[in-house]
Amino acid sequence: MSRLARFLEINPIESFQENYAKYITEDSFYGFPLEPILKAEEALASPDLTSIAYFSMEYGLAPSIYNSFPVSGEIPEANMFRRHEVFSNMRALDYFLDIQIDKMLDLPIYSGGLGVLAGDTTKSMADLGMSVVAIGILWNKGYFKQNFWFRYGQLPEEMHWDPWHYPGLIPLDKEICLKMRNDELHLRLWKYYVYSYDHRFVVPLILLDANLEKNPEPLRKLTDQLYRSDNPWWKIYQRVILGLGGMKAIDELGYNVVRYHLNEGHAAFAFLERARGRSDGEIEEEKKRFVYTCHTPVSAGHDRFHVNDLRAVLNEEDISILERLGTEPDRPGIINLTLVAMNASSHINAVALKHSWVMHNQFPDYKDRIVAITNGVHTLTWVSDAFRNLFDKYRDVFGDWEKDPTRLQNVEQLRSNQEFRRDLWQAHQKNKRQLVDLLWKWGVDENVFTLAWARRIAAYKRPSLILRNPDRLVEIARRLGKIQIIMAGKAHPQDNLGFTFIREMMDKIDALYEHRAYIRIMMLENYDTYFGKLLTNSVDVWLNNPLPPFEASGTSGMKAILNGVLQLTTLDGWVVEAEDKDIGWIFGYRDETNDASNELNLRLDEDAEALYSALEEVVSLYYSTNRQGEVDLSSPWIDKMINAIAQASYFNTYRMVHDYLNKIWEVDKAFATA
Ligand SMILES: *Cc1c(COP(=O)(O)O)cnc(C)c1O
Repeated sequence: MSRLARFLEINPIESFQENYAKYITEDSFYGFPLEPILKAEEALASPDLTSIAYFSMEYGLAPSIYNSFPVSGEIPEANMFRRHEVFSNMRALDYFLDIQIDKMLDLPIYSGGLGVLAGDTTKSMADLGMSVVAIGILWNKGYFKQNFWFRYGQLPEEMHWDPWHYPGLIPLDKEICLKMRNDELHLRLWKYYVYSYDHRFVVPLILLDANLEKNPEPLRKLTDQLYRSDNPWWKIYQRVILGLGGMKAIDELGYNVVRYHLNEGHAAFAFLERARGRSDGEIEEEKKRFVYTCHTPVSAGHDRFHVNDLRAVLNEEDISILERLGTEPDRPGIINLTLVAMNASSHINAVALKHSWVMHNQFPDYKDRIVAITNGVHTLTWVSDAFRNLFDKYRDVFGDWEKDPTRLQNVEQLRSNQEFRRDLWQAHQKNKRQLVDLLWKWGVDENVFTLAWARRIAAYKRPSLILRNPDRLVEIARRLGKIQIIMAGKAHPQDNLGFTFIREMMDKIDALYEHRAYIRIMMLENYDTYFGKLLTNSVDVWLNNPLPPFEASGTSGMKAILNGVLQLTTLDGWVVEAEDKDIGWIFGYRDETNDASNELNLRLDEDAEALYSALEEVVSLYYSTNRQGEVDLSSPWIDKMINAIAQASYFNTYRMVHDYLNKIWEVDKAFATA
């Protein structure tokens, strides 16, 4: 049989001839080789290999910056992202100018760090040649589009994109049907192949979609918007689609899976599929096949549902299984999906060492089963071209760093090499010029100290901390040197506190209008992986100021250190593991309790003071290092950059996925390729 015929046997595609035949041929899948798809599909179907299923509500694959499928010409307008507004302290400018970027929309099925981690994980499993299927949801309307409502905050807008013409995304002529208590729900299966960096292997990502004509209207909307939370029915159904739908999809596709990895409690209903109709003893056996990664100590991150609400969707047997696995001791009638996931799994992992201490405190009964596996980032997605060239130039030291990022620690050998120190600084300046080019209309200067705060807007991340006392900020800039600050982030549309934070930031930024000669602040609309990469690559300092101990890990700082960008950070999440490595500056409240029960005391005043004190040191060192373009190569700043790169050898997803394999999956033969 021809390769294409085999491909189509595995993947019967709706309207193949009309829409897809020009992109999928005997040897090509959207310009990438077709052969690895057949190899990966064969491995997943094979009973001899131990294949893994990875479940996640969201995936941030960042195809606009990494492994983009080359398509000739016509990308529909709905799948492009061209204009972004800026809110700055230069007022009138913002009304007339915006940022123009002609880029393809990222596959809009993620909202933030959890999704980006799932994307980086999937790419790494493909790079390592692991036999894995990833399960997610096709969000027909993405997350949301952020509009700045000048001076008044964020105005969320429904997003529209076109999955039928998104490069690499294929609709299968295959459906599954979930028979729920009151309805039958039909789900279409889509596939997106996540290629390894060398295009020799893939991990298929299966996306479930309820937007089918045969589903009644309310059910069709279930897979519209990620984290839409109007009512419990909606949220429960979305979790049913991921968990139960995902398990059915694995069966329908004939995959032979031995481990189910639940990325967050959202996927916990998957266990129901293996527990239904089984005896207690059999259920205990099934638990050996599940593992669970917990991503947050924040209370809102743990799903809780009332049994009565669950009854509107699930049948009595499901409810009784959930009652046994997920009832909180002091809250009868409430099912906690974190408990369900923990009780259904043989291994549980926290996402950093510090987070494991917090979890041990939160869940003392589970202490023995909770291990720490620190998050990472996918090196090849987040390394800038300038740093890739730098590592390549010194290949005799870094060797095959793409395959083995642990080699980045060899940067130590180059510490006293003056040529390397110069090249390192110049690579950084090259990255910074990309930011300058993007924001030239706002007068951004490559020799002015530049700092960024960009991430999801959530209270514990304290987005407005650096703006707490604007007078102090102005005073530092006047005395020690000009400051440029770039900010970005979306607040969940139903998060009122998040909305208030954006509004406060805008007020404070606008009030700095008169001081624009010394301090420029620019807030960018629609933070996404494209801006995530640009900002983590290009600024001098990455600001990270969550309230300890609420940041389970954080990953944006890991993207920054890989590119020699220094950290100005509180001591929380992954940073605890690099505390003594001198990768920047640590300030603010030190948590020794590991107690995540009080999110309300944000310690804004004292930590803002600590931040300003640290900032004085940072700005002074910056301007003694970069004297209007003349760089002092012996500066400790450059030593810190070297320390940062050395740490990127550890904080990456290759190391993390190997830890999954050795510490929680407990399988051998997960590799489909040698
Ligand atoms: C990396 C990344 C995140 C995660 O950021 P944290 O600071 O670790 O929370 C969130 N959103 C986007 C778009 C990212 O690229």
